[in-house]
Amino acid sequence: MSQDAWKQQLAAAIRRVEDLPSDLLVSLGGAQALQRVADEYPMMIPRRYLERIDPSNPHDPIARMVLPDPRELEVDPVCQVDPLGEDGYEVVAGLIHHYRDRVLLLVTTRCASYCRFCTRKRLAGRGWGQLTERQLDVVVSYLEQHGEIREVILSGGDPLVLSDQVLDHILGRIQSVPSVRMVRVGTRMPAVLPARITDGLAGLLARHRPLFVVTHFDHPRELGAEARRALELLVAAGLAVVNQTVLLAGVNDDVGVLAELFCGLQELMVRPYYLHQCDLTQGTGHFRVPLRQGIELMGQLRQRVGGLCVPQYVVDLPGGRGKVPVALQHVASMGLSGSVLLDPEGRPVPYPL
Ligand code: SF4
Repeated sequence: MSQDAWKQQLAAAIRRVEDLPSDLLVSLGGAQALQRVADEYPMMIPRRYLERIDPSNPHDPIARMVLPDPRELEVDPVCQVDPLGEDGYEVVAGLIHHYRDRVLLLVTTRCASYCRFCTRKRLAGRGWGQLTERQLDVVVSYLEQHGEIREVILSGGDPLVLSDQVLDHILGRIQSVPSVRMVRVGTRMPAVLPARITDGLAGLLARHRPLFVVTHFDHPRELGAEARRALELLVAAGLAVVNQTVLLAGVNDDVGVLAELFCGLQELMVRPYYLHQCDLTQGTGHFRVPLRQGIELMGQLRQRVGGLCVPQYVVDLPGGRGKVPVALQHVASMGLSGSVLLDPEGRPVPYPL
């Protein structure tokens, strides 16, 4: 495959509801209702990813992740536009400094596909676009002034929508700061647009080691031949690759599905790292799996597969209170109407369901 095939696939991705295949539209109840959702939260689906949907299945898990759903427009009182309070930790444009020794750098608000359950629905596909050179200057100078920051996590949006040249430049600038010792690149590209993972990109990322690639696969059907090839390329280039998954109702809230996904990743030398409780983001309430069910699923998973196939089940507490493993030591109480979790300092945080 040519090194630039991904650019053509990205340009050809479906962005308008009316361009969806008609059999799919009929099974979804028509274009009008979906367009209203896509006007609020952009839709984008690479055509090869769309082919993974079974139009005869009204509950297809792949469709559920990428097709607009009228429930996204329902206001859920427990959800927020910025559930992790990230905007409050944005120290300079694009840079979120929440934890002492690491920062999140949002290099773009674009993705190859807009996940309907995204934590950053407020930004994805409708924010400011791409970090400018001037903004990068400010980021680098912040890093230089904060020697405590040893790790920079590139995120967005999806950093791999940027060209190799731009990525190389950003990574070089960040790594020119002596106190930055580690970089992570978070991406959903291997799942939604695997053609993006070329020899050239894998080599480029490898030149910037130490660097972890953090992929995002949610369902075993995303692990098709092209995705496998993409992961193999990254691993063969000598990169450490770990995966995060979001626990999603109607997609992967089933121990068999999770086991197949995590074992499939492990066989490709990709370590399942986190299973995230879906954040309390406005417009995503229909994806939420109750914590109690998540804990039960993890128990079943541990009985079924080896430890290297078991990620850590975590919840990012609302309001920027930090990420905690959902293990019993972080659960103060659990009732039918909600739970109380303990933040990293042991302080109680109410949590719905
Ligand atoms: S690829 Fe990541 S940032 Fe983009 S929409 Fe999906 S979850 Fe959000």
